[in-house]
Amino acid sequence: MNTRTPFQNYQTNLKKAAKILNLNDKEIHALVTPDKIIEKKIKVKTASGEKEFLAYRVQFNNARGPYKGGIRFHPEADLDEVKALAAAMAIKCAVVNIPLGGAKGGVQFNPKDFSEKEIEEVSRAWAHAMVEDIGKDKDIPAPDMYTTPQIMAYIMDEFEKNTGRSEPGVITGKPITLGGSLGRTPATGQGGVYVLEKLLETANIAKNPLKVAIQGFGNTGYHIARILHALGYSIVAVSDSKGGIYNVNGFDPEKIFATKVEQGSVESAAEEVDSSLKIITNEELLECECDVLIPAALDGAIHKSNAEKIKAQIILEIANGPTTPEADEILFKRGITVVPDVLANAGGVTVSYFEWVQNGMNFYWTEKEVLEKLKPIMQGAFTEVWARAKKHSISLRDAAFLIGVERILEAMRARGRI
Ligand code: NAD
Repeated sequence: MNTRTPFQNYQTNLKKAAKILNLNDKEIHALVTPDKIIEKKIKVKTASGEKEFLAYRVQFNNARGPYKGGIRFHPEADLDEVKALAAAMAIKCAVVNIPLGGAKGGVQFNPKDFSEKEIEEVSRAWAHAMVEDIGKDKDIPAPDMYTTPQIMAYIMDEFEKNTGRSEPGVITGKPITLGGSLGRTPATGQGGVYVLEKLLETANIAKNPLKVAIQGFGNTGYHIARILHALGYSIVAVSDSKGGIYNVNGFDPEKIFATKVEQGSVESAAEEVDSSLKIITNEELLECECDVLIPAALDGAIHKSNAEKIKAQIILEIANGPTTPEADEILFKRGITVVPDVLANAGGVTVSYFEWVQNGMNFYWTEKEVLEKLKPIMQGAFTEVWARAKKHSISLRDAAFLIGVERILEAMRARGRI
């Protein structure tokens, strides 16, 4: 299991890059110190009386552009995790070379325990607490775990009510009717697919039918399953927080998803859709027979105790921080290709950037235009990371960090901050 915190994991990855780039202490300090940490108590009226939650925003670095990053509603969202995610956002935006910085936010609570109305109250309370700190040219939040376009709409509305002006660019991942971008919902999965296809082409790996196992069947997990299935990949396993399903011959993820929405879990969907599906645990899913493993749920899923048992040859990190540094070393030695989160899941923030650009122009692109713009950014970033990894004989994660760190420091130097 992972005994280190997510932010310690970020620091480990950063130190590896710092060594290769020969960074000095001042430069390292700049990359491990957030610009601003906002931690506030928010009070919300619920059916069982007034409740207090912790609300966070960590603004890590804005040298390359306004702070950018999602908001997570999760009982385990704490400051250390939010800090690690904010730092990773700064690296990620730099890896795909979009003009944005890094931030992340969260509320420590379990939305599954609350009604839609209560979730709205929490969302509005978060916006109210952060109104001075967010804005289209300042800090632009977006969805993350257990936050949705509807929640983005509540936050935008509360922000606009408080500021008295219309500012759709304050948040991305909004419903289309409020200035959301076509293609934003599947963007993270679609971006991951573009990267995977470029990897297969570059490494000369025969494409079909590769067996794919996906941990997490929410927004990102579902869309990547759907897109890969349509492209002819064989989806052999998916899971949610309650457990997973496996069939070595593959299955149609669309049918499972439709039934999961009705029944509440992947397991119960399996019983209804296809009795040949085997019920497995989340641990078994990570170790199952497959070619491509896609963690698309929580951080720390792949750690030193299970890294030896993973059978996939490719790990595409759609979740943020799913592999610990110890597991990374084991996987690298075993010759398993890990496409790091800061590259693999950057499709989400890239289309969020497109949404912000469209809000600024007040002119909107078709989904086709959005995807046509996304593909070269994702595949171009992959090619740069791959070339850098080959040059130094390092992992794709280390190579991505080198590129991200270099670009952030270049902007900080140009501003005279370091
Ligand atoms: P989501 O809330 O839509 O789905 C999360 C899924 O993970 C659900 O199926 C849930 O049941 C499952 N899950 C939760 N706990 C689990 C556990 N202990 N074991 C197995 N499964 C578990 O969230 P999402 O938007 O799909 O995000 C998933 C991951 O992708 C997160 O790490 C997030 O930071 C990352 N990510 C999301 C986006 C985006 O655009 N949504 C972009 C980049 C990265």
